[in-house]
Formats: sequence, structure tokens, C-alpha cells
Amino acid sequence: MIVPPSEEAISEAVKLLQEGSVIGLPTETVYGLAASIYSDDGLKKIYSLKKRPKSNPLIVHTHSVDGVLSVGEPRSSKFFLSLSEFWPGALTLVIPAKSNLSPLITAGHESVAVRIPAHPVALTLLDELGSPVAAPSANKSTAVSPTEAIHVIEELGENIFVIDGGPCSVGLESTIISLLEETPKILRHGGIPAEEIAEKLSIPLKSLLSEGKGKAPGQEKLHYAPKTPLSILPKDFSPSGNIGILTFTMSPPKGVKSKRIDNPKHFYVTLREFDKLGLDRIYIEEPKDSGLGRALRERIHKASH
Ligand code: AMP
Ligand code: MG
Repeated sequence: MIVPPSEEAISEAVKLLQEGSVIGLPTETVYGLAASIYSDDGLKKIYSLKKRPKSNPLIVHTHSVDGVLSVGEPRSSKFFLSLSEFWPGALTLVIPAKSNLSPLITAGHESVAVRIPAHPVALTLLDELGSPVAAPSANKSTAVSPTEAIHVIEELGENIFVIDGGPCSVGLESTIISLLEETPKILRHGGIPAEEIAEKLSIPLKSLLSEGKGKAPGQEKLHYAPKTPLSILPKDFSPSGNIGILTFTMSPPKGVKSKRIDNPKHFYVTLREFDKLGLDRIYIEEPKDSGLGRALRERIHKASH
């Protein structure tokens, strides 16, 4: 069920979360499937609805730095303080977890991933709930992420209470940074470009991008994928047949179904649109390895695995 973001809808969502239900939560990155961090019943529903492997931990969403400090204990205050300037925003920090946190959130790790979302509806709801929620993207495991309320219903069914916060303004998942090592390491590219983060931290981009000791859990090989097979568009391709072509910089070719994605926030919605066309294969231009192109590349590589 999709409801407009009224005061009543937010109160209803708070009640559902307190009762151990899950809700569809609009954020600026993608729509989340949220449960209270204090409800193991709710947290279990996230895994079963998404068919998510239990080894894949959840991101905690909270409305203040106090909320962040209620679930984790950042060791390096210097990096933590600089990075918290991106909040509210599309940045998730992995920090040592408080020991009382449900293992359904951490997947048994001693760390927790946490962020403050920059969506007015999410912030109001978190404020009224008075405690954080755990919220992965509201799609079936490995599928395309939802960037509009209707996508949540398409993925998870009519029964989910989804607050309509409009189309996501970022439309890509958060950038995940681990603060578990001496220097910050990027675990997943996302809505805030690595270059901006390196600059804020005054560290070389190379250091941020270099692989840390631990790999991010739950980064399956196949992820973000439409049902239609997806391939990277080869150079000098002559398009024909029942295929679709998506580009970022090139003008879309004539003769087959094609479209240029004019903004990274339209990436998922365009994949979803092309996935409904009954095509034999979708080819997509590989974006350049900088800025938000990094986040798009990472997703395209996983979706075309
Ligand atoms: P999503 O399922 O799209 O919301 O993405 C959540 C992702 O956050 C997971 O797949 C992990 O890659 C990452 N994550 C969550 N918790 C942790 C953690 N404790 N350590 C490292 N990465 C984490
Ligand atoms: Mg996801």
C-alpha cells in the first residue's frame, strides 16, 4: 500500500515499526525496507521478504550523530568527525558496533554500518520513532534497487506500507567507508564520489581506494541485476535484433530500442523500464572511472556478472 507522506502516515509507520512490522521508507539514495533495531521480529522480516542471505548485514539509519553513537563507537574521532560533515547524506560509515546490537543487524560482525539519510520524510519518521531503524534497499536480493514508491510494491508486494517520498534525488546507494583500519577504506562506491571524500579527509584517493584487510560482507557477485541479461556495450557494436541499448555519453543508436541515461539518478528506473520490454539482452555503455561513474561501473559490473 502506497500512502502520501502525511503526518498520519508517519504516525502509522512509527506504530508499525514499534509493533515489529516493516515499512517502505523513502530516502535520498534508494527506498529502504525498514525495521526497528530493537525488534528481532521486524529484522527477521527484512531477510525473509528480500530473500536476503543472513550473512549480509544491514545499514542502520538514524536522525542524529547521537543516534550513530547509540549503535557504534568510532575509534578514530578525527576521520569520523570530518566524514560526519557529509550527514545527512549518502555516506555510510562502518565503525565498531556496541555489543548489545542484534546480530541480525551486524550479521555477527563486530562492526556496524550507519548513516543519517537526507530525506525529510525519513528524518521526521526517525525523529518521531526516537530510535534508529535498520534498512537495506527495498528490493529482492540481487535485483534492481527501488527509486520510487511503486518499485517497492513491484518488488515486495502490495502488503508493504510504503510512504511515498517521491523519486529519490540521488538514486544510487550510499558510499560505504570502513573506519575499522588505520586509514579509511571505501567498501562500496555510491552517491558521494570517492574524490570528494578523499578531499574532505585530506588523504590520497589511492589510499581510500586501496583494498583494506577485510572485504565488505554481502557484496555478492551478482547484484543490482535486471531479469533481462545485461552486457557492457562493446566498442564498434552494430546493433540489431531484439536488444536494448543504454548509453550515458553516446547518442543512443537508431534501429533498436535505446535510451541515453542523462543523470545517474535515472540509472535504476531506466533499467527497470527496459527490463519490462521483453528484450533478449540489454547492452549498456561503460561509464568512466571517476565521480559517480565509479558507482555506476561497480553496479553495472555486478549486474552483468
Ligand atoms: P543494502 O543491502 O543495499 O542496503 O546494502 C547494505 C550493505 O552495507 C551490505 O550489503 C554490506 O555491504 C554493507 N554493510 C552493512 N553492514 C556492514 C558492516 N558491518 N561491515 C561492512 N559492510 C557492511
Ligand atoms: Mg541493496
